[in-house]
Amino acid sequence: MSRNPIYIKLINSARWKKLRVQKLKANSVCEECAKRDVSTLATEVHHITPVESVAGVAMMERLMFNWMNLQSLCHMCHSEIHKSAFSHSKEAIQANNKRGAKRFIDRYL
Ligand SMILES: [Zn+2]
Ligand SMILES: [Zn+2]
Repeated sequence: MSRNPIYIKLINSARWKKLRVQKLKANSVCEECAKRDVSTLATEVHHITPVESVAGVAMMERLMFNWMNLQSLCHMCHSEIHKSAFSHSKEAIQANNKRGAKRFIDRYL
C-alpha cells in the first residue's frame, strides 16, 4: 500500500469513494475475468496508470478521478496485477509507469 500522503488523502476522499461506487455500478463484472470469458463480480477499482506515477497534487488528482483510468476488478485479479507489477525491478516499474503516464496524458488530458 502506498505511503504517499497525497495518495492517502485522495484515496480516503469522499470524491473517490463516490466515484468508486459509480464505477462498480457501471462495470459490475471484473474486466480481467471478462477477457477470459469468465463473469466475476468486481469488488475493487484499479487505476490503470498508477496515480503515483505522476508528481504533484493536480496531476495525481487527474489520474485518480479520471473515469478512463479506472478498471473494475475482482480481488484475485487486482492482487495479481499488483503482484506482477512488483515482480519487476523498481527501475523497470518506474520507467513503465512514466511511459504509461505519458501515454495517458497524451490521450486523455
Ligand atoms: Zn477477476
Ligand atoms: Zn490497483
